[in-house]
Amino acid sequence: MRERIYLSLAQMGGGEQAFIKEAFDTNWVVPLGPNVDAFEKDLEAFVGEGRHVVALASGTAAIHLGLLQLGVGPGDEVICQSFTFAASANPVAYLGAKPVYVDSEADTWNMSPRFLEEAILDRKAKTGRYPKVIVPVHLYGMPAKLDEICAVAAKYDIPIMEDAAEAIGSEYKGRKCGAFGEFGALSFNGNKMITTSGGGALVCRTGEEARRTMFYATQARENRPYYYHEHVGYNYRMSNICAGIGRGQMQVLAEHIARRRAIHVLYTELLVDVKGVEVMQNPAAEFDSNFWLTCITVDSGVCEATADDIRLRLEAENIESRLLWRPMHMQPVYADCPFYGDGTAERIFNKGLCLPSGSSLTDEQIRAVAGVIKNSVGR
Ligand SMILES: *Cc1c(COP(=O)(O)O)cnc(C)c1O
Repeated sequence: MRERIYLSLAQMGGGEQAFIKEAFDTNWVVPLGPNVDAFEKDLEAFVGEGRHVVALASGTAAIHLGLLQLGVGPGDEVICQSFTFAASANPVAYLGAKPVYVDSEADTWNMSPRFLEEAILDRKAKTGRYPKVIVPVHLYGMPAKLDEICAVAAKYDIPIMEDAAEAIGSEYKGRKCGAFGEFGALSFNGNKMITTSGGGALVCRTGEEARRTMFYATQARENRPYYYHEHVGYNYRMSNICAGIGRGQMQVLAEHIARRRAIHVLYTELLVDVKGVEVMQNPAAEFDSNFWLTCITVDSGVCEATADDIRLRLEAENIESRLLWRPMHMQPVYADCPFYGDGTAERIFNKGLCLPSGSSLTDEQIRAVAGVIKNSVGR
C-alpha cells in the first residue's frame, strides 16, 4: 500500500523552531509577546492597504469578535453564505442572532449577489429591519464576486464581515481577500494554507478596531489597577508560541501559495480529457484563487461515476479526498433559518469533490491521484 496521500497537511518551513526557541529562552510563554506582535506586523504587510491585524486563537474567534463589534446581538439577523463550513455561521448563533442563508452563484460557488439583495429586501419586508451584517466567504480560496456584493452592501448600508479563512493570499482585482470587509477573518488551523497549529486573525480597518479586538480577546479588562469589567470579554488571544510558528510560516507563505496554484494547474492538465470531470477554475481575470484546495465536479450522467464513487476509489488507494461543504441550510442545526436561493449550492455539493492539495505533495503524488480518478470513471 502506498504512503497515505492527505487532503491538506501542514508543512513547516524550517524557521518556526527558532522563533519558538526564542520564546522559551526569553520566557515569553504566554498569550502575548514579541512573536505575536511580529506575526501581526508580517500579516499587516502581507494584506496591505494599511489594514491592522490582531492574532487570535482561531478563525472562528475572529468572526465572533468581528460580528460582536459590528453590533450583532440577540434578535438580529445576519446574512451568511450557505455554502461554507459551519464556523462561518456559528458565531452568529453564539451572539444570540439568527443566520439568514443565501445561495451561491455557479461561477465562484460563493454568495450570489442577486439572492443577497433579494434576501435583504425580503427580510426588511418581513421583519421591518435590515439584516445587521453580511458574511461572504471565499470558498476553497476562490474570491467571491466582491464588487457586486460590496455594491449591494453599500446600497443598504450593511457592513461586511469577510470570511477569508480559506483565502489567505487570494486576490480579487489585485487586492488581497480579507481587506474588503469592515472586518476580515483569517484561519491558521492545521489544514489551512499556513498553520500556527491552531489560530486565526482579525483584519481590521482602523487601529481603534484593532485595539477593541485585543480588548475583547483578553477578557475585556478596563484600564485600572484592579480587575474591572464593563463588558463581557473572551479569552481569544493567540499565544506567543503559536505566533512563533506563524512567523516561520510567513517566511514560506508565498512558496506555499505558489505550490498550491501549481498543483491546481497540474490537476487541470491531467484531467482535461476526462469526460464528465471538471476542475474548478478562476472564472475571469479579476479572480486569483490561492487554490487552497483544488476541487472537481463530476457529472455522473457523462462519466457514470459520482463524486462519492471517486472518493471511495481514492480511499481504497489510501488517498484522502473530501466531499464539498454541505450547505448550512441543509444542516439540521440551522433547519429553521430562512434561505434564499435556487438550489445552486446544493447542486454543486452533490457533484463536487476536494482533491489532495497540500503544498508538500509531489507531482508524482498528484499524477497518482489523477490516475485513480481517470480509472474510476472508466475512460
Ligand atoms: C477554517 C474555517 C473557519 C474557521 O477557522 P478556525 O481557525 O478553524 O476556527 C471559518 N470559515 C471557513 C470557511 C473555514 O474554512
